[in-house]
Amino acid sequence: MHVLVLGSGQLARMMSLAGAPLNITLSAYDVTTDRVVHPLTQTPIEQTLDQAIADADVITAEFEHIPHDILAICEKSGKFLPSSEAIKAGGDRRIEKALLDTANVKNAKYYVINTRDDFDAAIEHVGIPMVLKSALGGYDGKGQWRLKELSQIDEIWTEMQECIAASDNQAIVAEQFIPFDREVSLVGARGVNGDVVVYPLAENIHVNGVLSLSTAIDAPELQQQAKSMFTAVANQLNYVGVLAIEFFDVDGQLLVNEIAPRVHNSGHWTQQGAEVCQFENHLRAVCGMPLGSTKLVRETSMINILGEDSLPQELLAMEGCHIHWYGKSKRPGRKMGHINITADYTGELQRKLCELAKLLDKEAFPAVHEVAEHIKA
Ligand code: AMP
Repeated sequence: MHVLVLGSGQLARMMSLAGAPLNITLSAYDVTTDRVVHPLTQTPIEQTLDQAIADADVITAEFEHIPHDILAICEKSGKFLPSSEAIKAGGDRRIEKALLDTANVKNAKYYVINTRDDFDAAIEHVGIPMVLKSALGGYDGKGQWRLKELSQIDEIWTEMQECIAASDNQAIVAEQFIPFDREVSLVGARGVNGDVVVYPLAENIHVNGVLSLSTAIDAPELQQQAKSMFTAVANQLNYVGVLAIEFFDVDGQLLVNEIAPRVHNSGHWTQQGAEVCQFENHLRAVCGMPLGSTKLVRETSMINILGEDSLPQELLAMEGCHIHWYGKSKRPGRKMGHINITADYTGELQRKLCELAKLLDKEAFPAVHEVAEHIKA
């Protein structure tokens, strides 16, 4: 089987690595440069997008911000999975919110803002404090504002107006601020026959809106809630592939924050911690193969490597410590790779996280230090 992936970042790279044992080969389409490349090496493949589409058995995506004309071409080929509808829902917060409402899945109260009058209506409807998010193009906490008091309105409106004017079809989604206890996410897959499998929930720590650390957790009550919300969304979309849903946990009740119609950063732990990882399961799903077991085989945490291109060599000597570099050049804050740290039981994982905290710089890896301090306390 040959799969063409829209997007040529680390997710396509890790899909390519996971597909090899099943004889699934991949090429990747770099949407920004309009080039077909090898997903591991980024070496250009002398092919147009049309040729790559013709050569592929299946087309899928590794990100949701894909121009709609490209999605339309791929969909027309009849080979594209999950679907352009699912990708658009992940890339436009207005469509995402409408989808969650249709699937009857709990999410934060919201209001769509196009004009200053809408902003006033949003304050009335949603209340303060509120989180304001650009409908298009926002990720990792970018394109967001926090309205905490009425005195901020004019300043925030000026910035939001610029954001709305800067791109076609842009708007702002005002969302009720949720005082959550923690953030968790569920990654799972739906097959062509409608089968649904989900991994254990991951508890996620974000720093400045960017995922820093994820740990697979055993929380049966929450797992059940999350799985039923996941199934409702996946069935509503007639989804095929891996889907990720991020939730706020408020006193044991889950509210959806957002969905990602693709493999997800909070599922990278599955490479070492689950029987079959999210990348392989995505390929199995879109290639029409049986889905693999999502069983937890080891307690695992994943730590993002942001803006750093080297790590102390001692990490490689630690039992259960696996480093995954993405082959990217260094830029401040850029996702350069991740560490999966595994253990046979929770206490051992905690001990290893404390050991990692001693080896990793506090400024570059704040969440590991936060967790280690919490464990020691
Ligand atoms: P997002 O890009 O929507 O995932 O937002 C980035 C981060 O901002 C989330 O991981 C949360 O930590 C925080 N956040 C987003 N929406 C809300 C909300 N409605 N209430 C409280 N915190 C939020």
